[in-house]
Amino acid sequence: MARIGFIGLGNMGLPMAINLIKAGHQVEGVDLNPAAVEKLKAAGGIPVEFAKDAAARADVVITMLPAGQHVRDTYLGPNGIVENANAGTLLIDSSTIDVETARAVAGAAEMKGLLMLDAPVSGGVTGAAAGTLTFMCGGSAQAFTRAQSILEKMGKTIVHAGGPGNGQAAKICNNMILGISMIAVSEAFVLAEKLGLDHQKLFDISSKSSGQCWAMTSYCPVPGPVPASPANRDYQPGFTTAMMLKDLKLAQDAAKANDANTPMGSEAAKIYARYAERESARDFSGVIRMLRGAS
Ligand code: NAD
Repeated sequence: MARIGFIGLGNMGLPMAINLIKAGHQVEGVDLNPAAVEKLKAAGGIPVEFAKDAAARADVVITMLPAGQHVRDTYLGPNGIVENANAGTLLIDSSTIDVETARAVAGAAEMKGLLMLDAPVSGGVTGAAAGTLTFMCGGSAQAFTRAQSILEKMGKTIVHAGGPGNGQAAKICNNMILGISMIAVSEAFVLAEKLGLDHQKLFDISSKSSGQCWAMTSYCPVPGPVPASPANRDYQPGFTTAMMLKDLKLAQDAAKANDANTPMGSEAAKIYARYAERESARDFSGVIRMLRGAS
């Protein structure tokens, strides 16, 4: 049993922390929102007011926070995790943030004799509850090896992507592919509609042809062909347009900072930004409604 400090008990963090409790770990939970901490307590966790106190007692600290600035403040700020954790403590940040912040925090942690892993996830709230998340990990081999038995209680696929920040790099590259491919699949269905080609027929052909991709076969943006996709429930998320936009902006910031040419990623970010002005809380596959001109 490990003593785990879990900071950020939101839509993702709470079910992840509950899976650690179910696996027999002692989880001390911190969140600015008292209702979230109460929910952890009801599931057998221990409420703690400040991250620094949970960090000082923990073998492992996990953070699941909204964005880079929250991570920077929580780790490096006054009363932060890095200052208060004991040497040898394993720190795992599973938030989706910019590579630069992930590397800055990992550098500061290493200076203090702490082990740090950036470990963003894919799989969403459903995967968090089911314990089937994919973790993309950046950090030393030692940090990854120690983290594995903990991450296995929250996820099914755990990949070591390389040194510090490489987990975040993998996450934004993957989601850039997803954002672009969802627009591509949506455009194909919109064109098919204009041409009098049935949704199911396009699906039957494309899902077995060179247009095949996850956005088509697992998350189809029109109702019918894939019954579990958000299109069948009026585009309730799933993965919100706001979240997709956040990840595409991170990808564009990284592309600019590193002089990578990503014209489709740039265009996709603009398209989701326009769609987010109308329906940021809807699933990102709802972008087809805007492309169709009916949103
Ligand atoms: P959320 O907003 O539901 O949860 C974040 C939690 O952090 C909130 O409860 C908030 O009160 C808490 N918090 C903020 N600042 C804090 C601080 N200083 N100390 C303690 N608690 C603090 O967000 P979420 O959906 O759980 O997402 C968390 C992260 O996971 C984000 O980086 C997101 O991009 C990423 N992510 C989310 C999904 C998803 O489907 N929701 C999927 C993959 C990755």
